Amino acid sequence: MSNNPKHKNVEIKCFARTRRGTLCQTPRITGKKRCRMHGGTSDGAPKGNKNAFKHGRYSKVIIENRKRTMQLKREFKALLAQLIA
Ligand SMILES: [Zn+2]
Repeated sequence: MSNNPKHKNVEIKCFARTRRGTLCQTPRITGKKRCRMHGGTSDGAPKGNKNAFKHGRYSKVIIENRKRTMQLKREFKALLAQLIA
């Protein structure tokens, strides 16, 4: 594998931090950022997968809404503090 010119650019190391604290020396999966031991094989669940949907508390839309609400709350609190002071 190492003497084959075709594989010259394929063997980029994974460099994930191992349990020993060193960097992983295993070659990456082609087109991925990590090796087969460090999550290079999968991008996680497919987008829009509803198989495990229960209440939507952690769905993208709800998280966005929650962020916006908290931001408004912070702004309102700051405004109120200014008015009182
Ligand atoms: Zn690795």
